[in-house]
Amino acid sequence: MPRVRQTNVTAARWSPNGGALGAVDLTEPFSYPHGENVFSPAIQRHRLPKETYKRLQRLLSQGEALDTSLADAVALAMKEWALEKGATHYTHVFQPLTGLTAEKHDSFFGPAADGVALADFSGKELIQGEPDASSFPTGGVRATFEARGYTAWDPTSPAFILENPNGALLCIPTAFASWTGEALDAKIPLLRSMDALSRSAIRALRLLGDEQSARVFTTVGPEQEYFLIDEQYYFERPDLISTGRTLFGAKPPKGHELDDHYFGSIPERVLAFMMDSELELAKLGVPVKTRHNEVAPAQYELAPIFENSNVGSDHQQLTMQVMRRVARKYGLVCLLHEKPFAGVNGSGKHNNWSMGTDTGHNLLEPGDTPADNLSFLFFCAAVIQAVDKHQGLLRASVADIGQDHRLGANEAPPAIISIFLGAELEKVFGAIVSGEGDPHTPAAVLGLGTPVLPPLPMHGGDRNRTSPFAFTGNKFEFRALGSSMSLAFPNTVLNTIVAEAIDELADKLEAQVTGGTDFDEALAGVIKEAYGEHQRVIFAGDNYSDEWHAEAESRGLKNLRTTPDALPEVLADATVAAFEKYEVLSHRELDSRYEVWLEQYIIRANIEAETAAMIAKTMLLPAALRHVALVEAAGMDELATEARSLTASFVEAIGELEVANTYPDSVEGLELAIYARDSQLSAMARMREVGDELEKIVADDLWPLPKYSEILFIK
Ligand code: ADP
Ligand code: MG
Repeated sequence: MPRVRQTNVTAARWSPNGGALGAVDLTEPFSYPHGENVFSPAIQRHRLPKETYKRLQRLLSQGEALDTSLADAVALAMKEWALEKGATHYTHVFQPLTGLTAEKHDSFFGPAADGVALADFSGKELIQGEPDASSFPTGGVRATFEARGYTAWDPTSPAFILENPNGALLCIPTAFASWTGEALDAKIPLLRSMDALSRSAIRALRLLGDEQSARVFTTVGPEQEYFLIDEQYYFERPDLISTGRTLFGAKPPKGHELDDHYFGSIPERVLAFMMDSELELAKLGVPVKTRHNEVAPAQYELAPIFENSNVGSDHQQLTMQVMRRVARKYGLVCLLHEKPFAGVNGSGKHNNWSMGTDTGHNLLEPGDTPADNLSFLFFCAAVIQAVDKHQGLLRASVADIGQDHRLGANEAPPAIISIFLGAELEKVFGAIVSGEGDPHTPAAVLGLGTPVLPPLPMHGGDRNRTSPFAFTGNKFEFRALGSSMSLAFPNTVLNTIVAEAIDELADKLEAQVTGGTDFDEALAGVIKEAYGEHQRVIFAGDNYSDEWHAEAESRGLKNLRTTPDALPEVLADATVAAFEKYEVLSHRELDSRYEVWLEQYIIRANIEAETAAMIAKTMLLPAALRHVALVEAAGMDELATEARSLTASFVEAIGELEVANTYPDSVEGLELAIYARDSQLSAMARMREVGDELEKIVADDLWPLPKYSEILFIK
């Protein structure tokens, strides 16, 4: 049997291997291992001296300072718990600017005087680590000769145990800063932005008559899309290994045209993977709730229950890590790239976002009383104002080389940021602005100045799947995140810009009330003004249509198509002003992010282009040449002419890519990113087109890469 066929048959011959879950009945109340490997508040209460536990809780709820005696007591309990769980090592886990997760393991054990090893772990080791940080990108914040960087314990994100067949590891979520205190990671700005939003929202709530709430938390519930493919195909494709996506591959005769995959029944091997990874995630306290097939063949989705932004973001990083790891147990590889297969739907991550008080009130949930509804509309108006004012920054917060295949293409949200409110909510805002009730809503309820609003329905109007930023009943769904992306920065941006808008609206409200305006009238006036000024960002139609692109332009909305177009927004005046005002990121810290992200784009473009040239020259071209010889030897003149001419075009296109792969001298920064996009990646795309044509004519047993029709359908 030719090699290709043999691979397919082996791939299809799956049977549950060592990874099967065993016979535990998970429906028994105490069998489900939720949080089993988490140093959770429940474990802390059980293990810490009563006074220590209370102090730790005060620290968490009121931000009291951490002293060494408290840290020592927590460290001791944590160590004992971890050793009982089989952990021999601990690590501070942090998220450097690459968006990935970093860890460096240290053993608990050290030699004691009499030749035995003793387990030791002090408060100091819990609180602070000092990884040799010289190799993490900092965008110039820290010179490499001053390599010191510190990790600092984040007590608000619980420590956990990662299991391995050969042992276990205590993982301590930490922040990562330079020794001068500048944030070198994704967590510090996220935490700062949560504080900023809480301050603004509490101030506004006081104005609105809420005397109870002490803190507002932003919440996040991410929906993760991903592909699963058999690992044999993965390891046969250098492009998947080096870049996470296929750089070649002709469109298969059958794609997702039949719509037979979305919400379809889940193949057994995939379901086995899902159950196993969900169980692993449950042990880590990640509350996974939903699973289903997605639109593309071999594409799936997982969604957890929402959590506060910091914990939710840490859990999302863990989710991606666990999914990748567990897939291998089932002979699968989990692809998190935004566009692993050209012409097939890519993967994103919907970021469901809201704000809730410590008293359990969701600020974006319409209420039962007119006062509740006015408060809801106030916070909604703040979100609308923030999104309109900072549309470019929001677009930049999801920019990434993988995203450039999705955003703006007709499958994912467009690169233009707009908001979908739903028919009901749009009607309510419209009525407030015009001062008139709508004939289709109960009369008399929407008069301006006597704003007796009706209870808003939870799910007003239709869902609009094409909108990048949609109100979905009690939260906004920012749908433009890429599947491999960290939640941290997009949520940092959301929190910061909404904090700013809430303050701006609160300023106006306060001024009017102080000036003697009736409170309800002033409030309605503020909502009306904000909505009126920012209405251009509201759009309910088809975001994929050409008409919308034209209309958005006439409305003055930004259309930042690619990463090099979007990234400069990180340094826009409005961005710097908001981030400095709320002390989320200083100008220097924003600079460093801009530089690191630009550099990442350039490096990844170059890896793709060089990988593509290598595959073309050393794998595909030889196959094409063999095929030419084959048809020539058979005396098939017409076929030989076709094969020769296509092969000649291929040789030419490879040559052009090789030229483009040599960077021009003295071009750097944004200019180099633009060069990579316009010269290098476009030469690569032209070469791919010819390569994909060759795939369609070269003898199947000569073609060295597994094809889409195999990778996507054999499971
Ligand atoms: P969809 O219909 O968009 O596919 P799902 O039910 O799959 O919706 O996902 C909804 C997501 O929204 C879940 O992850 C859920 O936890 C999250 N979510 C619900 N309420 C909130 C909230 N208040 N804040 C943040 N996320 C939320
Ligand atoms: Mg969704």
